[in-house]
Parts: sequence; structure tokens; C-alpha cells
Amino acid sequence: MDNNYDLGIIGGGPAGYSCAFYASSLGKKVILFEKENIGGVCLNKGCIPTKSILKSSEVYSQMKNCEKFGLNAENISVDYKKVIERKNEIVEKLKKNLELALKNAKINIIKSQAEIIDSNHIKDTQSGGIYNCSKIICATGAKPRQIKGLEFDHKFLLSSDDILNLEVLPKSVVIIGSGAIGIEWAQIFNNFGVETTVIEVAQNLLPNADIDISKRIERIFKLRKIRFFTKTTVEKIENNILKLSNGEEIFAQIVLVAGGRIPNVEEKIDGVSYIGDSAGEIQLAHFAIKQALENISSVPFRKDLVPAVVYGEPEIAWVGVKEQDLAGQEYQKSTVLVSSLGKAWCDGKTEGFIKILSQNDKIIGAHIVCAEASSLLGQIVIAIQNEIPVKKLTEVCFPHPTYSEGIFDAVLKI
Ligand SMILES: Cc1cc2nc3c(=O)[nH]c(=O)nc-3n(C[C@H](O)[C@H](O)[C@H](O)COP(=O)(O)OP(=O)(O)OC[C@H]3O[C@@H](n4cnc5c(N)ncnc54)[C@H](O)[C@@H]3O)c2cc1C
Repeated sequence: MDNNYDLGIIGGGPAGYSCAFYASSLGKKVILFEKENIGGVCLNKGCIPTKSILKSSEVYSQMKNCEKFGLNAENISVDYKKVIERKNEIVEKLKKNLELALKNAKINIIKSQAEIIDSNHIKDTQSGGIYNCSKIICATGAKPRQIKGLEFDHKFLLSSDDILNLEVLPKSVVIIGSGAIGIEWAQIFNNFGVETTVIEVAQNLLPNADIDISKRIERIFKLRKIRFFTKTTVEKIENNILKLSNGEEIFAQIVLVAGGRIPNVEEKIDGVSYIGDSAGEIQLAHFAIKQALENISSVPFRKDLVPAVVYGEPEIAWVGVKEQDLAGQEYQKSTVLVSSLGKAWCDGKTEGFIKILSQNDKIIGAHIVCAEASSLLGQIVIAIQNEIPVKKLTEVCFPHPTYSEGIFDAVLKI
């Protein structure tokens, strides 16, 4: 067997499989090692499964509140087993498609744990085979971070992996950490009617977001009766009761510990490229994919313009500079309330805002809490990246009725 390759990749997530596709399209001979599932965390334990369960929870919540649309529905109930089955079917379908595409691209996939020996050699730990590669990319991803005193026991203290496979919904849940994973799961549980509490050590929920986004999500959580405590930690757990640093005691049937993710890299080896979550920079699938394109095809991208999205109703999305980082600087701020948009009233989704920050007639940041925020943000990223003057954007014709009219209204007000 010929064990010589142009490119050896470890990890079949978005970073790894994107590298494989780009390299094979350039005629390179590629080998990819994956020890678990092609598609990585994104497809099997992250983006796709959570958004599938989130959608089920949103449909349930909408059906329960459908009278406001002039509809009557009775006996609506959750069959959580089927919610999980649907999630599994979506994952399997996408995985099959991906595997087929990799096969068609003539990428050699080895389903085994690999070990990097040096910058040109990879060992298949199962067969012991050694592969010679002109270049090696490590795209081994990341795993849930353990928090001291709250180590996963996979029964009561759950990770974001464990929570995907619950067989029944709990009556109550405590979520520790209010990053994207914590905020999305809080909404999933709340939509399904589970008593939900979020505990965050920082000053505000979603601490990495613009302060207006954090405040709005706090307001939304209050309205939905999702309990939360900020500037708070868990001091002790006894018999399912969490004793908090603020003196509160909360009973939880289960706890989701969502305290970030750490790279699956023990020691970096010189001459090997580390990309995606394994690089420990920005842990998002679209960042991993852009890094792959940059690495293989030398297509650059701006790391300061990587969009962030938190899914739910409404969606939350942002890019660029946050208002709290502009202290002492001159800047313009334009905020449009979603409730000013006709489309929002038709959809019954009037909660939120579109906030645009600019300097010298150029957009420098956008912070959106709005239905379809994830898609709206793409339009603004194009404008920022291409330094399109705000005045020029006012010449663009946005369709009606849409949420994108909010972008038009915001730039018009600058
Ligand atoms: C609950 C959750 C929700 C998320 N939602 C979003 C979202 O909505 N949008 C978004 O952009 N990002 C989201 N993410 C983050 C996203 O999943 C990651 O950023 C993305 O998967 C990173 O891709 P990657 O290829 O770097 O790593 P991974 O997807 O982690 O893939 C790494 C792969 O390497 C394999 N591997 C590791 N070591 C070895 C070895 N020694 N040999 C062989 N194979 C190995 C692993 O089995 C894994 O399949 C979410 C993450 C989680 C946990």
C-alpha cells in the first residue's frame, strides 16, 4: 500500500473535512483520520443537534401560544423520544451526505485514532500503520471544560454531550454558564415547560456580547420566567440542592455545566498546522471552515469580523466592535426597535433591536436581537468588510416587509 500523501488531516469536523475538500479540489492526495464520527462536534454533538432540538421546542411553544394567530389547538404534548429521534435522523442524513461527498472527492478516510509522530508522520494507533505526509493539519477539536467542584458525573452533572441524549425531559434544570450553549439550552428547556435556572459568574448574561444584548436577553428571560443569577457561583451541592454564593438554594433534577471548551491538544508539534477548535482561538464552525480555506488555498479572512450567533427566539447575532469597548472614543450609534417593523408584527416577533455602531461614515459593529438575526448579520458583515460608506448603504433598496428593513432604517438614522 502506498502510504505517501500530500496532506494528512487528523479530525473529521468542519475544520478537517473542509481542508480535505479544498485540498482534494486542488488535486492533492489526502488522508483524513477520524476516531468517532465524520462531521465532528458540529454535526454530531453541537450546532446541528442542538438546533434541531431547539426547533422542536419552538414549534411546541408556538403551538401552545397559537391563539394569538387566531388558531385553536388542543391536547398539544411533547414526545421527547421522538424529538431526539428526529434529531438523530437529521444528523445521520447529513453525515451520510458528507461521507459520500468525501468519498466522491477521493479522500482516504481512516476511522481510527491518529497520533502525530512528527511534522511529516502520522500513526494509526489501531493498525500501527505509519503514513508519510508532506503536510499535516491537526483539527482535533475541543471538549467540554470541567469546572472544579462541578466535575461531570454524566448523571446529575451533565456536559453539553450528555444533555443531547436525555430520554425524558426533566422537571427542573440548572444551567451553569450563560455563553451560547447555556442560553440556547435555557430556551429549549423553557419552551418545553421545564423549570429553568441559569447561573452566571460574570456581571451579565452572555458576557461576551454587547452590553445592550446582555440586558435584552436578561429582560427576555425575566418575561419568560427563566430564573437567572449573575455574579453568582455554586458553592456546594447536596442531594440535588445547589447552594449558591448569594445564599440561594435551588433544587435541580439535572445540571448542565456549560463552562466553555478546551482544545484536544496535549502538546503542539513544530511544523504542524493547528486549526479550528483545537487551535483554541474562536471556537465556531464557520471560523474553522474559514481557517481551512486560508490554510489550504491562502484565501485570507478578517478574524475581527467573525460573526457570533446565539439561536433561539429571537435570534442574537453580532459582529465587530461592542459599545462597551468604545469608551472615550467618538462614535455614532443607531438603534431600530424590531417593533417598528411590519414583518415583526405579522410574525408575532416584535421583541428586539438592530443596533449599528459607526465611525467616520463606516460601520464598525452591529448587534442584533431579532428573528432571522443570523441571516441579517451577513449583509452587515459584507458592508463592514468592504468598507461600504453608510451613505452608500442608504442607496440600497431593501425588500418589504422584511426584517432587513431594520438595517435600512438604522443606516438612514446615522
Ligand atoms: C452544544 C454546541 C453547540 C454549538 N453550536 C454552534 C453553532 O451554532 N455555530 C457554530 O459555529 N459553532 C457551534 N458550536 C461549535 C462548533 O461545534 C465547533 O466550533 C466546531 O465543531 C469546530 O470544528 P473542528 O473541526 O475544529 O472540531 P470538531 O468539530 O470538534 O471535530 C474534531 C474531530 O476530531 C476528532 N478527533 C479528535 N482527536 C482525534 C484523533 N487523535 N484521531 C482521530 N480523530 C480525532 C474528533 O472525534 C472530532 O470528530 C457548538 C458546539 C457545541 C458543543
